[in-house]
Amino acid sequence: MTTHTPRTKDGLRGDGQAPPDGSPREADTAVRPRRAEISNLEIVDHYFSVAAERLGLRDDIAAVLRSSYREMQVQIPVKLSDGKIHVFSGYRVQHNGARGPYKGGIRFHPEVDLDEIRALASLMTWKTAVVGIPYGGAKGGVNCPAEELTDDELETVARMFVDRVDRLLGPTRDIPAPDVNTNAQTMAWMMDEYGKLHGYSPACVTGKPIALEGSYGREAATGRGLIYLLREVAPRLELTPSTTRLVVQGFGNVGSWAARIAAQLGCRVVGISDAGGAVTNPNGIDVEELYAHVREGGRITEFPNVEPIDPDELLQLECDVFIPAALGGMIHKDNADLLNCRLVIEGANSPTTPAADEILADKGILVVPDVLANAGGVIVSYFEWVQNLQHFRWDEREVNDRLGTIIRKAFREVSARAGDGGSSLRLAAYELGIERVVEAATVRGYIS
Ligand code: NAD
Repeated sequence: MTTHTPRTKDGLRGDGQAPPDGSPREADTAVRPRRAEISNLEIVDHYFSVAAERLGLRDDIAAVLRSSYREMQVQIPVKLSDGKIHVFSGYRVQHNGARGPYKGGIRFHPEVDLDEIRALASLMTWKTAVVGIPYGGAKGGVNCPAEELTDDELETVARMFVDRVDRLLGPTRDIPAPDVNTNAQTMAWMMDEYGKLHGYSPACVTGKPIALEGSYGREAATGRGLIYLLREVAPRLELTPSTTRLVVQGFGNVGSWAARIAAQLGCRVVGISDAGGAVTNPNGIDVEELYAHVREGGRITEFPNVEPIDPDELLQLECDVFIPAALGGMIHKDNADLLNCRLVIEGANSPTTPAADEILADKGILVVPDVLANAGGVIVSYFEWVQNLQHFRWDEREVNDRLGTIIRKAFREVSARAGDGGSSLRLAAYELGIERVVEAATVRGYIS
């Protein structure tokens, strides 16, 4: 039996072993921008603490809101193609349920650990409150090397995870969704497994395929939300689509949709990266073609009419908008000064460390924070859940319009608060989220 060891930050497995198929993949050896030493938990905790202090929150109430309501760790033993059983760890953390059922994605990634899941669960509590949808915050994950697993192996991990944590889940309790390295197919397996135990329950997970009561517009929702916010901010910076140059870090669900929708509007995408490398074209990358190329298994660095660059150089590309859409901690104190943009819209969760946040503020770069910017996914997950509870379906236009209404309203509320209090959008968003959770917890009688 092999106990799985998380990878080190350089992308190699911490136990020094070869991946399950015996051969390192390109993604393991590609040069990746160094991530911050500070953890996602420290990042979220820092922003929470500053906002709580500005709100004058009592220490005992802050202690309740800082910690998780429930944390579960489970063993996921899976026999891989090397013939050995590998033991992965699965986590589900329910941070706060004052405002509604727990809600949050599940990621499959070798660096997943309890602290990261705690951080992401707490971020979900503030995010759902900021955009005013009736959910609490949760997150889950399995520390498996998803990019190296076959579909059969991924299915086994997904089903076993649900078997192990199913008592926590349910349409009125806790509703998972996709995140890094999980997608509509993963949610289909999870819904099926949950259904075996509890009967047909499409509202038990969101981000499902359309064939299984998924919602139109869910796959694109996080990227679309980012671009709705770009359009909200653009007049402040006197940007029009034809004058906007974008750089996108990460070309998965969030990054690829953000890049495609921006390009459809007429913006120029001048730089893109993923785990395998980074590319640029100052005249604009053909994003639709690149998307098709990647879907067919191509590497972005082998795409025609782009120049491969070092991933660190991506941050230095001259542009108007930088969208981090990969992992947490990618913009840190040692590289924030390199950014050559006017606006950062955070697609990823916790991409910017507190030290980097200060550097960006000093440089006059406006940051639309994760806790607001990437809420499009959970907003449309909420729509999917609402549709599932009624076994009814809205068309894509209705979904996109409703998404726009909610995320724009949240942006205006956060902006107004930042304007009034002279704080960043991030602190204003945290303050708004914390206030709403405190109010719900108080009227329920959880805190007094
Ligand atoms: P994904 O797995 O679909 O894509 C992740 C992308 O990041 C891939 O292209 C991968 O190659 C790239 N990547 C990984 N390491 C990288 C590195 N070192 N440098 C550059 N690129 C790298 O995941 P996703 O769903 O697009 O999620 C991306 C981020 O957005 C995560 O932080 C996630 O928590 C956040 N997020 C996702 C959603 C959603 O609806 N999927 C919603 C809110 C927030």
